[in-house]
Amino acid sequence: MTAAAETRRDRITKLRGELATHGLDAALLTHAPNIRYLSGFSGSSGMLVVLPEEAGLITDFRYEQQAGEEVDGVAEILVARDGLSSMLAERLKDRSQVRKVGFEAGYVSVRDRRELGERCSSVVWDDLPQTVERLRAVKDADELASIDRAVQVAERALEETLATVDEDVTELELATELRHRLALQGSTGEPFETIVASGERTALPHASPSERSFREGDLLLLDFGATIDGYCSDITRTVVLGTPTPWQREIHARVLEAQEAALAAIRPEGAAADVDRAARASLEAAELGDRFGHSVGHGIGLEVHEGPRLFRKSKDTLEAGNVVTVEPGVYLAGKGGVRVEEDVLVVEAGHRVLTCSSTALREL
Ligand code: ZN
Ligand code: ZN
Repeated sequence: MTAAAETRRDRITKLRGELATHGLDAALLTHAPNIRYLSGFSGSSGMLVVLPEEAGLITDFRYEQQAGEEVDGVAEILVARDGLSSMLAERLKDRSQVRKVGFEAGYVSVRDRRELGERCSSVVWDDLPQTVERLRAVKDADELASIDRAVQVAERALEETLATVDEDVTELELATELRHRLALQGSTGEPFETIVASGERTALPHASPSERSFREGDLLLLDFGATIDGYCSDITRTVVLGTPTPWQREIHARVLEAQEAALAAIRPEGAAADVDRAARASLEAAELGDRFGHSVGHGIGLEVHEGPRLFRKSKDTLEAGNVVTVEPGVYLAGKGGVRVEEDVLVVEAGHRVLTCSSTALREL
């Protein structure tokens, strides 16, 4: 068994320990990133059933070979010929020691929940605690290496893309260019829809690229990421086409101050909410607090939004090994906005910024 497979087996063992403390006999995982984390399987059709002595990955004919290669002995591969849940029912029947099974209530539709109840009528279904999400929030060395590469790939693609910016290029064209460069650099997929906004459209925090073409004096906001081995990066840079105006310089400087303040609040045992509060206090001092309407960041990993969550009311506590984004922004409707997003590792001494490209207001 490979080291990666051993790691996954350990994760499943940790999950079993947690099940016992919650009075659960088994767990059914249906959320793809959790299945991948525990078993290595990256296909889109699968269920992972973790029983007291064994684990089974249920998939269909299309993924039989892939599952065998990826799962590498961590779980038995069960190929369903007649739907995944009928195979699950077969696995669970006649197991007197499996009474109560945890399932991921947040990811199961009402229809699928009903089907589980009908097909597996001998078991009691209950909420699975957020164990896998909590384990996933603390990255090991291999996961960090993948995220580091995802950051590097994204930054190289950014440099190449910025070199092609010119007046009359449209947001959609630049977004296509960026996606192309990301793929050529080795990204296996967009972790989220690439954002390219220009001019007054930079005031839309989640702008979809449009037909608008760039003009002298425009702010350009690019929010994008790469995926390597399933792990994401998530970076935002705001640049200016030509010479920035005083108000553009001003809000960019205030965003960088907010970011410094947020970064200074990142440390193990620190409250995730304090990171958000620090950024917000910095912008409030500049009377821009009401122009920053989203949370300051989120964990990244197998998903682009995962724990810990860095928002005002977050109950999460930071731990060494968390990887989070820090992305304060200021948005002035009708004028433009600035966001700068860094990817940051929580380390014993505080934090380490993984992104390397300059956060200064670059003039293209
Ligand atoms: Zn982003
Ligand atoms: Zn983000």
